[in-house]
Amino acid sequence: MSDLPVFRNYINGEFVESSQQYESINPATGLAWAIVPVADKAESEAAVESAHRAFVSPEWARMTATERGKLLFRLADIMAENSDVLAAIETKDTGKIIRETRAQVAYICEYVRYFAGLADKVEGTHLPIDKQDMEVFLRREPIGVVAAIIPWNSQMFLAATKFGPAIAAGCTMVMKASEEAPAPLLEFARLVDEAGFPPGVFNIVSGYGQDCGKVITSHPLISRIAFTGGPETARHVIHNSAENLADVSLELGGKSPVIVFDDVDVDSMINGIVAGIFGATGQSCVAGSRLIVHRNVKDEILSKLKAKAESILIGDPELMETEYGPLATVAQVEKIERIVAESIAAGATLVTGGKRPEDYADRTYYLPTILDCSNVEDASSVTNELFGPVLSVLTFDTEEEAVAIANNTRFGLAGGVFTKNISRAHRMIRAIRSGVVWVNTYRVISPMAPFGGFGESGYGREGGIQSLLDYMRTKSVWINTSEEPIPDPYKMR
Ligand code: NAD
Repeated sequence: MSDLPVFRNYINGEFVESSQQYESINPATGLAWAIVPVADKAESEAAVESAHRAFVSPEWARMTATERGKLLFRLADIMAENSDVLAAIETKDTGKIIRETRAQVAYICEYVRYFAGLADKVEGTHLPIDKQDMEVFLRREPIGVVAAIIPWNSQMFLAATKFGPAIAAGCTMVMKASEEAPAPLLEFARLVDEAGFPPGVFNIVSGYGQDCGKVITSHPLISRIAFTGGPETARHVIHNSAENLADVSLELGGKSPVIVFDDVDVDSMINGIVAGIFGATGQSCVAGSRLIVHRNVKDEILSKLKAKAESILIGDPELMETEYGPLATVAQVEKIERIVAESIAAGATLVTGGKRPEDYADRTYYLPTILDCSNVEDASSVTNELFGPVLSVLTFDTEEEAVAIANNTRFGLAGGVFTKNISRAHRMIRAIRSGVVWVNTYRVISPMAPFGGFGESGYGREGGIQSLLDYMRTKSVWINTSEEPIPDPYKMR
């Protein structure tokens, strides 16, 4: 019998025995490290039904917003106490380095606290209505049962940006972990259980796209879908939502530009570019994967970037000193190898990387890679989201050219601008078509700041007050204050 830790789906306040399980692989070792469940159709339906029962139950429906906030505050405290455990599990399951998962999980608690505090700050409105003897006011009510679909990267973070506002708003939810690395969210279920939410408010399941994701997102009892993942899956999700007409928000991928003007102090901004593309081994939706650099500083920047990329400490993601770990799956590495080869064949020049590191050739590691694509602006690595550590470099001479290159993408999630010229910075902020623009920094986030995309990067925003309101619907209430009988509708007045 296997002595690997066993994770279970969490439905209606119970950890359930699933009909199927499999071994989850630690990408750093290539070995199985945990047993994880597969929610089949029936289990997925049971999760939605449980969330619906909780939604209409007096225990939840009559709970005050202040009490919901307190439950979320309690959950945040429990998460903070368990952040090292959550981080260690995320590192084992995804290969993301422990120094990143620890920092991220610690900060996620602030997201939960932010929405906990907002829970009882949502106010209605009184209308100066154009009718006599009528009082009209607006209530904001929870939209209903939410289906949250989470990918395998940054999953605790992507979960918090959904359950924080949804639960604060008074919704209940079914959250689906990614089958590629479900253990962190299933561990999180134990913390939800400890926090004392009424059974069914939070259901956390893992399963495959067809039998679990599709069933949940098309279920008639679902009113809202919050999806993070790739654009292809998003198209399926939209089709699924045609079944239940649920509201949908989509946080998808990106091909984010980082524009560097020739007035910068190169030494002070190299770390920004490196963090943007090699942080999380490039497996980040906001990866700054297109470096658009002024021709005058291109050589200096490339040589400094190359030196920095080659000095990054590659190693075991579970060690605090490691700066760079493996990719999450073999399929990821193979996709990157194919796109890099295609780009070089099309005329891109390899500046550094472009292969698996020798010490880890049998595993899912891939070197920090820089491709000079200035002669092939339509190279595969420039146009496709690799979701990996590959920086494609392009050059420009004028501001207009920089904008045209930056916006030459079907995505629009994030963008970076490095310049000392404040007027130019403002022109670039207006011109770049993306949901986030960072100026002289990159990859900074906060629960207060909305996050989301344009174009194929999706729609809807996560973070900020609006994201909470997006889990609510407005109800107009009309009260007749007159003592007069209601006039006969068939008599002219
Ligand atoms: P994916 O699209 O393959 O899967 C995402 C989730 O969708 C998984 O849980 C999967 O099981 C589920 N799914 C699959 N088929 C489904 C269906 N028919 N119905 C419902 N759900 C279904 O994405 P991934 O490979 O796990 O993650 C990588 C992608 O996510 C990248 O494109 C990345 O850019 C994107 N991403 C975006 C953000 C953001 O906030 N914008 C953040 C992280 C990742």
